[in-house]
Amino acid sequence: MKLAGLDVVDLTVGDPDFSTPAHVKMAAVRAVEENFSHYTSLEGIPQLLDAIIEKFRRDNNLHFERGQILVSNGSKQSLYNVLLALCNPDDEVIIPAPHWVRYVPMVRLAGGKPTIVPTSSDNGFKMSAKQFRKAVNARTKVVIFNSPCNPTGVVYSKGEIEELADIVRETGIYVISDEIYEKILFDNAKHFSIGSIRQIKDQVITVNGISKTFAMTGWRIGYLGAATDVARAAAKVQKQTTSNANSIAQRAAVEALNGPQHDVEMMRIELQRRRDFVGEQFSKIAGLEFVKPKGAIYFFLSVEAFIGKHVNGTMMRNGEDICRFLLEEERVAVLPGTLLGDKNRARISFAVAWNDLQKGVDRLKNGFKKLSGAH
Ligand code: PLP
Repeated sequence: MKLAGLDVVDLTVGDPDFSTPAHVKMAAVRAVEENFSHYTSLEGIPQLLDAIIEKFRRDNNLHFERGQILVSNGSKQSLYNVLLALCNPDDEVIIPAPHWVRYVPMVRLAGGKPTIVPTSSDNGFKMSAKQFRKAVNARTKVVIFNSPCNPTGVVYSKGEIEELADIVRETGIYVISDEIYEKILFDNAKHFSIGSIRQIKDQVITVNGISKTFAMTGWRIGYLGAATDVARAAAKVQKQTTSNANSIAQRAAVEALNGPQHDVEMMRIELQRRRDFVGEQFSKIAGLEFVKPKGAIYFFLSVEAFIGKHVNGTMMRNGEDICRFLLEEERVAVLPGTLLGDKNRARISFAVAWNDLQKGVDRLKNGFKKLSGAH
Protein backbone atom coordinates (compact mmCIF):
# COMPACT_ATOMS: atom_id res chain seq x y z
CA MET A 1 0.00 0.00 0.00
CA LYS A 2 2.90 2.30 0.79
CA LEU A 3 4.49 1.54 -2.56
CA ALA A 4 1.21 2.46 -4.21
CA GLY A 5 1.57 5.89 -2.60
CA LEU A 6 -1.02 5.36 0.15
CA ASP A 7 -0.50 7.05 3.50
CA VAL A 8 -0.15 4.07 5.84
CA VAL A 9 1.14 4.39 9.41
CA ASP A 10 3.26 1.37 10.26
CA LEU A 11 3.15 0.37 13.93
CA THR A 12 4.33 -3.20 13.31
CA VAL A 13 8.09 -3.01 13.57
CA GLY A 14 10.24 -3.23 16.67
CA ASP A 15 12.87 -0.80 15.45
CA PRO A 16 13.47 2.28 17.63
CA ASP A 17 13.34 5.36 15.39
CA PHE A 18 16.20 7.13 17.23
CA SER A 19 19.59 7.74 15.64
CA THR A 20 22.64 5.77 16.66
CA PRO A 21 24.57 7.82 19.27
CA ALA A 22 27.11 10.17 17.62
CA HIS A 23 30.15 8.82 19.48
CA VAL A 24 29.28 5.32 18.28
CA LYS A 25 29.00 6.46 14.67
CA MET A 26 32.39 8.15 14.98
CA ALA A 27 33.96 4.91 16.19
CA ALA A 28 32.71 3.24 13.01
CA VAL A 29 34.06 6.07 10.86
CA ARG A 30 37.45 5.67 12.49
CA ALA A 31 37.35 1.92 11.86
CA VAL A 32 36.63 2.53 8.16
CA GLU A 33 39.41 5.08 7.89
CA GLU A 34 41.85 2.71 9.57
CA ASN A 35 40.94 0.05 7.01
CA PHE A 36 39.56 -2.24 9.65
CA SER A 37 38.05 -4.18 6.81
CA HIS A 38 39.30 -7.74 7.08
CA TYR A 39 38.01 -10.96 8.56
CA THR A 40 38.15 -10.92 12.33
CA SER A 41 38.36 -13.89 14.63
CA LEU A 42 35.18 -15.90 14.44
CA GLU A 43 34.14 -15.18 18.04
CA GLY A 44 34.65 -11.42 17.75
CA ILE A 45 37.49 -8.94 18.16
CA PRO A 46 39.25 -9.09 21.56
CA GLN A 47 38.21 -5.51 22.51
CA LEU A 48 34.56 -6.40 21.94
CA LEU A 49 34.81 -9.69 23.81
CA ASP A 50 36.28 -7.77 26.75
CA ALA A 51 33.64 -5.04 26.51
CA ILE A 52 30.92 -7.72 26.62
CA ILE A 53 32.56 -9.51 29.56
CA GLU A 54 32.67 -6.21 31.42
CA LYS A 55 29.08 -5.34 30.46
CA PHE A 56 27.83 -8.71 31.72
CA ARG A 57 29.75 -8.22 34.97
CA ARG A 58 28.67 -4.60 35.49
CA ASP A 59 25.01 -4.83 34.50
CA ASN A 60 24.05 -8.44 35.04
CA ASN A 61 26.32 -9.94 37.68
CA LEU A 62 27.40 -12.55 35.11
CA HIS A 63 30.98 -13.73 35.00
CA PHE A 64 32.46 -14.97 31.74
CA GLU A 65 35.84 -15.42 30.15
CA ARG A 66 36.81 -14.85 26.53
CA GLY A 67 36.13 -18.41 25.35
CA GLN A 68 32.56 -18.12 26.64
CA ILE A 69 31.47 -15.17 24.50
CA LEU A 70 30.35 -15.32 20.87
CA VAL A 71 29.57 -12.22 18.79
CA SER A 72 27.09 -12.74 15.97
CA ASN A 73 25.15 -10.92 13.27
CA GLY A 74 22.39 -9.79 15.59
CA SER A 75 21.06 -11.59 18.63
CA LYS A 76 18.77 -13.42 16.24
CA GLN A 77 21.80 -15.30 14.97
CA SER A 78 23.00 -15.85 18.54
CA LEU A 79 19.68 -17.51 19.35
CA TYR A 80 19.69 -19.61 16.24
CA ASN A 81 23.32 -20.71 16.71
CA VAL A 82 22.47 -21.95 20.18
CA LEU A 83 19.31 -23.72 19.14
CA LEU A 84 21.18 -25.50 16.35
CA ALA A 85 23.96 -26.39 18.78
CA LEU A 86 21.65 -27.73 21.50
CA CYS A 87 18.75 -29.42 19.75
CA ASN A 88 18.83 -33.02 18.67
CA PRO A 89 15.90 -34.19 16.54
CA ASP A 90 12.62 -33.87 18.46
CA ASP A 91 14.17 -32.33 21.56
CA GLU A 92 11.50 -30.20 23.18
CA VAL A 93 11.93 -26.48 23.65
CA ILE A 94 9.61 -24.72 26.08
CA ILE A 95 8.37 -21.32 24.91
CA PRO A 96 6.03 -19.32 27.15
CA ALA A 97 3.34 -17.59 25.06
CA PRO A 98 2.80 -14.86 24.04
CA HIS A 99 6.27 -14.92 22.52
CA TRP A 100 8.45 -13.27 19.92
CA VAL A 101 7.37 -14.30 16.45
CA ARG A 102 10.70 -15.96 15.56
CA TYR A 103 11.14 -18.49 18.37
CA VAL A 104 8.80 -21.15 17.03
CA PRO A 105 10.13 -21.26 13.45
CA MET A 106 13.73 -21.13 14.74
CA VAL A 107 13.15 -24.13 16.98
CA ARG A 108 11.53 -26.02 14.11
CA LEU A 109 14.39 -25.19 11.75
CA ALA A 110 16.81 -26.49 14.36
CA GLY A 111 14.91 -29.79 14.41
CA GLY A 112 13.40 -29.22 17.84
CA LYS A 113 9.77 -29.32 18.93
CA PRO A 114 8.24 -26.17 20.40
CA THR A 115 6.23 -26.76 23.58
CA ILE A 116 4.09 -23.70 24.08
CA VAL A 117 3.10 -22.74 27.63
CA PRO A 118 0.19 -20.32 27.35
CA THR A 119 -0.12 -17.43 29.77
CA SER A 120 -2.87 -14.83 29.92
CA SER A 121 -3.48 -11.34 31.21
CA ASP A 122 -5.14 -12.94 34.29
CA ASN A 123 -1.71 -14.08 35.51
CA GLY A 124 0.03 -10.95 34.20
CA PHE A 125 1.32 -12.93 31.17
CA LYS A 126 3.86 -14.73 33.34
CA MET A 127 4.65 -18.43 33.26
CA SER A 128 4.23 -19.74 36.80
CA ALA A 129 6.58 -22.25 38.39
CA LYS A 130 3.68 -24.71 38.41
CA GLN A 131 3.08 -24.37 34.67
CA PHE A 132 6.79 -24.63 33.98
CA ARG A 133 7.18 -27.80 36.04
CA LYS A 134 4.26 -29.39 34.25
CA ALA A 135 5.74 -28.61 30.84
CA VAL A 136 9.13 -30.24 31.49
CA ASN A 137 9.55 -33.91 30.61
CA ALA A 138 12.40 -36.27 29.75
CA ARG A 139 12.64 -34.88 26.20
CA THR A 140 12.86 -31.23 27.26
CA LYS A 141 16.20 -29.71 26.31
CA VAL A 142 15.76 -26.00 26.83
CA VAL A 143 13.40 -23.20 27.80
CA ILE A 144 13.44 -19.83 26.07
CA PHE A 145 12.98 -17.08 28.59
CA ASN A 146 12.41 -13.46 27.51
CA SER A 147 12.15 -10.68 30.07
CA PRO A 148 11.36 -7.86 29.35
CA CYS A 149 9.06 -9.69 26.97
CA ASN A 150 8.16 -9.03 23.36
CA PRO A 151 5.17 -8.69 22.86
CA THR A 152 3.65 -8.33 26.35
CA GLY A 153 6.12 -5.92 27.97
CA VAL A 154 6.13 -8.11 31.07
CA VAL A 155 9.17 -8.00 33.36
CA TYR A 156 9.63 -10.94 35.74
CA SER A 157 10.73 -10.10 39.28
CA LYS A 158 13.83 -11.59 40.90
CA GLY A 159 11.62 -13.76 43.12
CA GLU A 160 9.64 -15.12 40.18
CA ILE A 161 12.84 -15.90 38.31
CA GLU A 162 14.30 -17.67 41.35
CA GLU A 163 11.25 -19.93 41.49
CA LEU A 164 11.70 -20.87 37.83
CA ALA A 165 15.43 -21.36 38.40
CA ASP A 166 14.73 -24.02 41.06
CA ILE A 167 13.02 -26.10 38.38
CA VAL A 168 15.87 -25.51 35.94
CA ARG A 169 18.30 -26.80 38.56
CA GLU A 170 16.19 -29.84 39.44
CA THR A 171 15.61 -30.88 35.84
CA GLY A 172 19.01 -30.03 34.38
CA ILE A 173 17.60 -28.35 31.27
CA TYR A 174 19.17 -25.33 29.58
CA VAL A 175 17.78 -21.80 29.59
CA ILE A 176 18.20 -19.41 26.69
CA SER A 177 17.66 -16.02 28.28
CA ASP A 178 16.88 -13.40 25.64
CA GLU A 179 17.63 -10.08 27.36
CA ILE A 180 17.55 -7.81 24.33
CA TYR A 181 15.13 -5.33 25.99
CA GLU A 182 16.91 -5.20 29.36
CA LYS A 183 17.52 -1.44 29.19
CA ILE A 184 14.01 -0.49 28.17
CA LEU A 185 12.23 -0.53 31.51
CA PHE A 186 9.50 1.69 32.95
CA ASP A 187 8.15 2.65 36.38
CA ASN A 188 11.36 1.60 38.12
CA ALA A 189 11.04 -2.02 36.98
CA LYS A 190 14.28 -3.93 37.50
CA HIS A 191 15.90 -6.42 35.19
CA PHE A 192 17.34 -9.58 36.69
CA SER A 193 19.47 -12.06 34.74
CA ILE A 194 18.58 -15.68 35.44
CA GLY A 195 22.20 -16.68 34.67
CA SER A 196 23.36 -14.79 37.76
CA ILE A 197 21.86 -17.54 39.94
CA ARG A 198 25.00 -19.44 40.80
CA GLN A 199 23.49 -22.94 41.00
CA ILE A 200 22.36 -22.88 37.35
CA LYS A 201 24.93 -20.57 35.76
CA ASP A 202 26.34 -23.27 33.46
CA GLN A 203 22.86 -24.11 32.20
CA VAL A 204 22.05 -20.57 31.12
CA ILE A 205 22.91 -19.01 27.79
CA THR A 206 22.47 -15.25 28.05
CA VAL A 207 21.72 -13.53 24.75
CA ASN A 208 21.81 -9.80 24.19
CA GLY A 209 22.72 -7.26 21.52
CA ILE A 210 23.07 -3.61 20.66
CA SER A 211 19.98 -3.33 18.43
CA LYS A 212 17.36 -2.04 20.83
CA THR A 213 19.51 -0.47 23.57
CA PHE A 214 21.48 1.78 21.24
CA ALA A 215 19.03 2.10 18.30
CA MET A 216 21.39 0.04 16.14
CA THR A 217 19.16 -2.60 14.59
CA GLY A 218 20.77 -2.30 11.17
CA TRP A 219 24.33 -2.73 12.42
CA ARG A 220 23.63 -6.38 13.25
CA ILE A 221 25.59 -7.11 16.39
CA GLY A 222 24.33 -9.60 18.96
CA TYR A 223 26.21 -11.72 21.45
CA LEU A 224 25.92 -14.54 23.93
CA GLY A 225 27.65 -15.67 27.06
CA ALA A 226 27.52 -19.35 27.97
CA ALA A 227 29.44 -22.24 29.50
CA THR A 228 32.53 -22.98 27.39
CA ASP A 229 31.20 -26.15 25.73
CA VAL A 230 27.95 -24.47 24.66
CA ALA A 231 29.70 -21.31 23.45
CA ARG A 232 32.14 -23.47 21.46
CA ALA A 233 29.34 -25.47 19.87
CA ALA A 234 27.51 -22.27 18.93
CA ALA A 235 30.74 -20.91 17.42
CA LYS A 236 31.08 -24.09 15.36
CA VAL A 237 27.65 -23.45 13.86
CA GLN A 238 28.61 -19.88 13.04
CA LYS A 239 31.86 -21.07 11.48
CA GLN A 240 29.89 -23.06 8.92
CA THR A 241 27.53 -20.22 8.10
CA THR A 242 28.55 -16.57 8.33
CA SER A 243 31.98 -16.44 10.05
CA ASN A 244 32.60 -13.25 12.03
CA ALA A 245 30.14 -10.41 12.44
CA ASN A 246 30.86 -7.24 10.46
CA SER A 247 34.25 -5.82 11.46
CA ILE A 248 33.23 -2.14 11.39
CA ALA A 249 30.05 -2.81 13.38
CA GLN A 250 32.12 -4.67 15.97
CA ARG A 251 34.26 -1.58 16.50
CA ALA A 252 31.10 0.52 16.87
CA ALA A 253 29.76 -2.00 19.38
CA VAL A 254 32.89 -1.61 21.53
CA GLU A 255 32.17 2.09 21.76
CA ALA A 256 28.45 1.52 22.39
CA LEU A 257 29.20 -0.75 25.35
CA ASN A 258 32.21 1.07 26.80
CA GLY A 259 31.34 4.68 25.98
CA PRO A 260 28.98 7.16 27.67
CA GLN A 261 25.50 5.76 28.29
CA HIS A 262 23.41 8.94 28.51
CA ASP A 263 21.76 8.38 25.09
CA VAL A 264 20.42 5.07 26.38
CA GLU A 265 18.71 6.81 29.29
CA MET A 266 17.37 9.58 27.06
CA MET A 267 15.82 7.04 24.73
CA ARG A 268 14.32 5.18 27.67
CA ILE A 269 12.73 8.35 29.03
CA GLU A 270 11.33 9.21 25.60
CA LEU A 271 9.92 5.69 25.22
CA GLN A 272 8.29 5.96 28.62
CA ARG A 273 6.66 9.22 27.51
CA ARG A 274 5.31 7.50 24.40
CA ARG A 275 4.13 4.48 26.38
CA ASP A 276 2.25 6.76 28.78
CA PHE A 277 0.64 8.62 25.91
CA VAL A 278 -0.45 5.45 24.14
CA GLY A 279 -1.66 3.87 27.39
CA GLU A 280 -3.75 6.91 28.22
CA GLN A 281 -5.31 7.04 24.75
CA PHE A 282 -6.06 3.32 24.70
CA SER A 283 -7.62 3.39 28.15
CA LYS A 284 -10.32 5.63 26.66
CA ILE A 285 -11.36 2.99 24.13
CA ALA A 286 -14.23 0.92 25.46
CA GLY A 287 -13.66 -2.81 25.09
CA LEU A 288 -9.92 -2.60 24.43
CA GLU A 289 -8.03 -4.57 27.06
CA PHE A 290 -4.27 -4.48 27.68
CA VAL A 291 -1.63 -4.86 30.36
CA LYS A 292 0.45 -1.68 30.55
CA PRO A 293 3.98 -2.72 29.55
CA LYS A 294 6.73 -2.48 32.18
CA GLY A 295 9.43 -2.91 29.57
CA ALA A 296 10.17 -3.33 25.82
CA ILE A 297 8.38 -1.28 23.17
CA TYR A 298 4.97 -2.85 22.57
CA PHE A 299 1.34 -2.89 23.62
CA PHE A 300 -0.32 -6.26 23.21
CA LEU A 301 -3.98 -5.40 22.84
CA SER A 302 -6.90 -7.74 23.27
CA VAL A 303 -9.36 -7.16 20.45
CA GLU A 304 -11.68 -9.91 21.64
CA ALA A 305 -14.51 -7.47 22.37
CA PHE A 306 -14.74 -6.64 18.66
CA ILE A 307 -14.79 -10.20 17.35
CA GLY A 308 -18.15 -11.08 15.80
CA LYS A 309 -18.86 -7.49 14.75
CA HIS A 310 -19.92 -6.81 11.16
CA VAL A 311 -18.40 -3.95 9.17
CA ASN A 312 -19.12 -3.29 5.51
CA GLY A 313 -20.86 -6.66 5.34
CA THR A 314 -17.85 -8.60 6.67
CA MET A 315 -17.75 -10.35 10.02
CA MET A 316 -14.65 -9.95 12.19
CA ARG A 317 -13.83 -13.60 12.91
CA ASN A 318 -10.57 -13.08 14.75
CA GLY A 319 -7.71 -10.68 15.47
CA GLU A 320 -6.40 -11.02 11.94
CA ASP A 321 -9.67 -9.80 10.44
CA ILE A 322 -9.57 -6.82 12.77
CA CYS A 323 -5.97 -6.02 11.82
CA ARG A 324 -6.94 -6.21 8.15
CA PHE A 325 -9.90 -3.90 8.78
CA LEU A 326 -7.63 -1.40 10.56
CA LEU A 327 -5.18 -1.48 7.69
CA GLU A 328 -7.72 -1.23 4.88
CA GLU A 329 -10.16 1.19 6.52
CA GLU A 330 -7.91 3.30 8.72
CA ARG A 331 -4.52 2.84 7.03
CA VAL A 332 -2.75 1.79 10.19
CA ALA A 333 -0.70 -1.43 10.26
CA VAL A 334 -0.55 -3.45 13.48
CA LEU A 335 0.74 -6.99 13.94
CA PRO A 336 -1.85 -9.76 14.39
CA GLY A 337 -1.23 -11.85 17.51
CA THR A 338 -1.69 -15.16 15.67
CA LEU A 339 2.04 -15.73 15.24
CA LEU A 340 2.79 -14.40 18.70
CA GLY A 341 0.74 -17.03 20.48
CA ASP A 342 -2.62 -15.27 20.94
CA LYS A 343 -5.00 -14.95 18.01
CA ASN A 344 -7.33 -12.52 19.76
CA ARG A 345 -4.66 -9.89 20.22
CA ALA A 346 -2.70 -7.41 18.14
CA ARG A 347 0.70 -5.86 18.81
CA ILE A 348 1.61 -2.26 18.27
CA SER A 349 5.09 -0.80 18.62
CA PHE A 350 5.43 2.61 20.24
CA ALA A 351 9.09 2.99 19.21
CA VAL A 352 8.04 4.99 16.17
CA ALA A 353 8.44 8.70 15.51
CA TRP A 354 6.15 10.87 17.61
CA ASN A 355 4.12 12.20 14.63
CA ASP A 356 3.48 8.73 13.28
CA LEU A 357 2.58 7.49 16.72
CA GLN A 358 0.00 10.23 17.25
CA LYS A 359 -1.43 9.71 13.79
CA GLY A 360 -1.47 5.94 14.23
CA VAL A 361 -3.17 6.10 17.62
CA ASP A 362 -5.84 8.47 16.25
CA ARG A 363 -6.52 6.05 13.43
CA LEU A 364 -6.74 3.13 15.83
CA LYS A 365 -9.19 5.08 17.99
CA ASN A 366 -11.34 5.77 14.92
CA GLY A 367 -11.20 2.15 13.84
CA PHE A 368 -12.11 0.76 17.25
CA LYS A 369 -14.90 3.32 17.56
CA LYS A 370 -16.38 2.10 14.29
CA LEU A 371 -16.09 -1.50 15.47
CA SER A 372 -17.70 -0.65 18.80
CA GLY A 373 -20.66 0.93 17.08
CA ALA A 374 -21.09 -2.00 14.68
CA HIS A 375 -23.39 -4.97 15.28
N1 PLP B 1 14.77 -11.10 20.60
C1 PLP B 1 13.63 -10.41 20.64
C2 PLP B 1 12.65 -10.70 21.71
C3 PLP B 1 13.34 -9.43 19.66
O1 PLP B 1 12.20 -8.76 19.71
C4 PLP B 1 14.29 -9.20 18.63
C5 PLP B 1 14.02 -8.23 17.55
O2 PLP B 1 12.93 -7.79 17.31
C6 PLP B 1 15.46 -9.95 18.64
C7 PLP B 1 15.68 -10.89 19.63
C8 PLP B 1 16.50 -9.80 17.56
O3 PLP B 1 17.26 -8.67 17.65
P1 PLP B 1 18.61 -8.49 16.82
O4 PLP B 1 18.79 -9.68 15.94
O5 PLP B 1 18.45 -7.24 16.06
O6 PLP B 1 19.71 -8.40 17.85
